[in-house]
Amino acid sequence: MFDTLTSSFTSAIKKIRFHDDEKALKKALTELKKNLLKADVNHKVVKQLLGDVEEDVKTAGIGKDQFLNSLQKRLHELLLVPGHQGFVFGSKPPTTILMMGLQGSGKTTTTGKLALYLKNKQKKVLIAAADLQRMAAVEQLIQVGASVEVDVYHDENETDPVKIALGARKKAEAGLYDVLLIDTAGRLAIDEELMGELKAIKNAVQPDEVFYVADSLTGQDSVRTAASFNEQIGIDGVILSKYDGDAKGGVALGIASQVQVPLRFIGNGEKMPDLEVFIPDRIVNRLMGYGDIEGLAEKTANIIDEKKAKELTRKIKKGQFNFNDFLEQMESMKKMGSMKSLIGMIPGMGAMGDALKNFDLENSGELKSIKAMVSSMTMKERENPDLLNNSRKKRIAGGCGMDAMDVNRVLKQFKNASKMAKKFSGKKGMQDMQNMMSQMQGGKMGALPR
Ligand code: GDP
Repeated sequence: MFDTLTSSFTSAIKKIRFHDDEKALKKALTELKKNLLKADVNHKVVKQLLGDVEEDVKTAGIGKDQFLNSLQKRLHELLLVPGHQGFVFGSKPPTTILMMGLQGSGKTTTTGKLALYLKNKQKKVLIAAADLQRMAAVEQLIQVGASVEVDVYHDENETDPVKIALGARKKAEAGLYDVLLIDTAGRLAIDEELMGELKAIKNAVQPDEVFYVADSLTGQDSVRTAASFNEQIGIDGVILSKYDGDAKGGVALGIASQVQVPLRFIGNGEKMPDLEVFIPDRIVNRLMGYGDIEGLAEKTANIIDEKKAKELTRKIKKGQFNFNDFLEQMESMKKMGSMKSLIGMIPGMGAMGDALKNFDLENSGELKSIKAMVSSMTMKERENPDLLNNSRKKRIAGGCGMDAMDVNRVLKQFKNASKMAKKFSGKKGMQDMQNMMSQMQGGKMGALPR
């Protein structure tokens, strides 16, 4: 999700690679400035960041290491404003969060995403439908709740959102819920009535935190409205939605320091798992092109069963990875959300984000036909495709709308992939893999910093 920003940083870093003199530093700074402005990072933020880096490097002595160290340190400072990181539980359950935002910002979707995020952490979550302004908002929230299998509090006969919020709180306390997320009303623009309603809810329920959902597609406008909500109501965190559609992405870099409220989560897709916790340390690593292994591990931990993963590794090592395992893997990967939301977390892969941007696991034609093909096979055949004779291949081809040649091709590819995986799973294999990766990076993607 930080493709553009990451490539801004890595290309500037490269500029200072081999020439440790003032000219190289200027060149790197100019490159960084140009790219950051192009990525829609606020100009004051850019000026401050680069001014600080220049000063640091001049004091420490010009060189790539000093440049990298300073950049890393100053990026931390930029993103770390006073306040919490990620989701923080209150001292007494239910931790109550008010969700605010303008209409269409993605507030309702984000409420569902957050509920799923917490549910995956084994928390009991209740979401409350206190957006009584927009027609069908309650219905939308009920659907969102159902899709993530989380309880929704709603009352169609009540017209006062404050009473809804209080009713939800009562239910959350009585039902021993860990977290209560209250979805509030939005408007197309800020107005007094809306602010009055939100203030009244905040006063009545005294939430642990208020999250403001900002639509990253509205660029610097999202920063201004977040600041305005903060002044008028007080917010504790910003969630930046629709980051997947924001080709520039610079807002994420400046919003915390501009509003003086931490950026807590980023929404990067329409699906419920497409929410990422924003931890400055990890983000800085990603921006520097170092990846985010911790984030990746967290995201996969909820989805991949450790026992199954071990079994899978054993099978791969023995060259026994079969079509049943393949189908299971596809299903797990689907649960992790879109491919592009994962790719930037793998060290060195950030720059490949673009190439894989439109790779959609669910709708990829190739994968769809492979899945159809596997579904036409018997369990035994999936485990051992060598059992397939020509007449079976023909029948399977007919069943999945392929021709027999396609089926043969897929079987061969699968066999090769399984062999490769076996080869790479040993110690020497890892070495081979690393060599291959560095060759790829040296060529198409450019050398990695570090
Ligand atoms: P609300 O009026 O603020 O509650 O907004 P909704 O939750 O109804 O979202 C408005 C639209 O934005 C819907 O079509 C959502 O699917 C879409 N949306 C929300 N978050 C994201 C996101 O992170 N990425 C993308 N691509 N779309 C999103």
